[in-house]
Amino acid sequence: MNRLRRSFTVVFGLVCLAFSLASAAAPARVRFETGAAPETASWAAAAEVLANEWYPRLGNLLASGTEVVLPDVEIRVTPTYDGVAAASGNRIEMSAKRVAALPEDSRGVVIHELVHVVQAYPGGSEGWLTEGIADYLRCAVYESMPLSEFPRPAKDRGYRDSYKVAAGFLFWLESGPAPGVVRQLNAALRRGGYRESVFRDRTGRDLETLWKDYLAAFQKSGPLPTTTQVMRLRNGSFERLNDGSWGEFQDGKRIWTFREEARTPEHIDLLDEGRGLRLRLTANEVLLRQGDRWGTLYRGNWEPAKSP
Ligand SMILES: [Zn+2]
Repeated sequence: MNRLRRSFTVVFGLVCLAFSLASAAAPARVRFETGAAPETASWAAAAEVLANEWYPRLGNLLASGTEVVLPDVEIRVTPTYDGVAAASGNRIEMSAKRVAALPEDSRGVVIHELVHVVQAYPGGSEGWLTEGIADYLRCAVYESMPLSEFPRPAKDRGYRDSYKVAAGFLFWLESGPAPGVVRQLNAALRRGGYRESVFRDRTGRDLETLWKDYLAAFQKSGPLPTTTQVMRLRNGSFERLNDGSWGEFQDGKRIWTFREEARTPEHIDLLDEGRGLRLRLTANEVLLRQGDRWGTLYRGNWEPAKSP
């Protein structure tokens, strides 16, 4: 080996060493500070483990070619803070009162705020997308909330309601018309290069049309047919009886009886007082009331009653 080659080898070796040291650098950490609200210390200890599992993952879920080095984050839980939480640069402030009152929801808030740290968008970014992306990662990814449960106001430009509304819209885009769009939007927002035309480029449809298509995809069924007598299910039926009550039948046998509580052109509401159970028959579904929402129980089709 001549001298030139030897010195090249040494320099090359040093460069490699420097690279491997850099890539082995400690990953960014999230640290909670609860000195001003010691009653939240045990919540924060568990939340800190969760935050350190999710922070790098959130970075990876939004990564798009150009590497972004995540900063260390400090989350202060303070008794004086009045809002829910806020992120500013790599500092997050959370309300101690809210953490104590809603510990589970507050873990979701941590995820939402960590997304803001990862985003690091320049000022003046599209607010509905900033908050929509944060709630998309919080609700759809971290909390596994089903798409059907996201709020969906039936109005023009409803996505501008931001937060969970925009998050559901992004979820729908990701799962069908524009997979990977969240990562793409994030990259554009980060470099200050967001244009609404990205939606048309990706799907051939503009933003307003996509929003309308999203609403249409979840529109509950239309009006009931006029012969609302028997709803056939896969293994049974709901049938209106001669006394005006409703029976649920399985294999030809009546298994439950319901009182008709209300009727509109779109649905019939049934009540089983004994079980405290409310059902809603629509043009093609039987829904069950749980808490303050209706969930699909069966799918079915209306048929005229057979003559006796
Ligand atoms: Zn936010």
